[in-house]
Amino acid sequence: MKEVIYTIPINDAYDVKCGCPVCRLENKLDTEAREYVMGAAMMEPDVRIMTNEVGFCPRHFSEMLEMKNRLSLALMLQSYLADLLQDGVVKDTKHISKKEFEKIADKLRTASDGCFICKRVEEKLSLFVKNIIYIWESNEEFRKKTRKQEYFCPKHLALLCHTAKKLISKRNYSAFCEDHFFATRKILNSLSEDVTKFCNSYNYMFRDIPLGEAKTSVERTIDFLNGDIKK
Ligand SMILES: [Zn+2]
Ligand SMILES: [Zn+2]
Repeated sequence: MKEVIYTIPINDAYDVKCGCPVCRLENKLDTEAREYVMGAAMMEPDVRIMTNEVGFCPRHFSEMLEMKNRLSLALMLQSYLADLLQDGVVKDTKHISKKEFEKIADKLRTASDGCFICKRVEEKLSLFVKNIIYIWESNEEFRKKTRKQEYFCPKHLALLCHTAKKLISKRNYSAFCEDHFFATRKILNSLSEDVTKFCNSYNYMFRDIPLGEAKTSVERTIDFLNGDIKK
C-alpha cells in the first residue's frame, strides 16, 4: 500500500491510550455513516436504492430514531415501504401469492442481517485496518504506541491479525502479533486473576480474603469481551 490516507485519525485514536483504539475508530465511522444517511445521502437516489435494498438493522434504526432529523428518516421509510410493497404487488389486493410473500419476507430478513450503515462502516474499517498495518510496518514510533495501548478488544484483535497475515511477511507478522498481544495480555491477566478471586469467594476456605476490585470482575470481563463499540 503506497498511500496512507488515514494516518491522522489513526494516530488520534492511538494517542488516547485508553480502551481499544480500533473501537474508537469504528465508533467514529459509525457516527459519520449515520450522519451521512440522515443528511447528505437523503438527496442521492443511488443511496436510496441501496437503503431500499438492504434496509437497516435494529440497532441503527434505534440510533437514527434518536437523531434530530425525523423527516429524513420518514422519507427513507416511505421509500423503503413503497419499494417493499411494489416488489410484492400487494398494495391493492387482499391475497398474496406464496412467491410474493416469500420475496417480501426475504427482504425484511435481509434488513436485520447487515444493514446499509453496518456495511459502510465495515468497508471503511477494513481500509483503516490495512492502513494501521502499513503504519505499524513502516514506523517504529507507531510500534511503540501499539504496545502502550490499554488493550485491543477480541473482535479487533482478530480483525488486525487476520488482515496482517495476508498482507505482511511471516517475520513481521510474528512481531505484529507479539505487539498486539503484549498490549492485551495485561488486561487478560488481571481479569483472569480477579475472576478466580471472585469464584474463590464462594469457597468457605477463602471467605476471609477481601474481594476488593474482584467484586466487579464478571461485569468487567464481559465488557472487555464485548468490546467498546456503542451498542
Ligand atoms: Zn475494539
Ligand atoms: Zn446496522
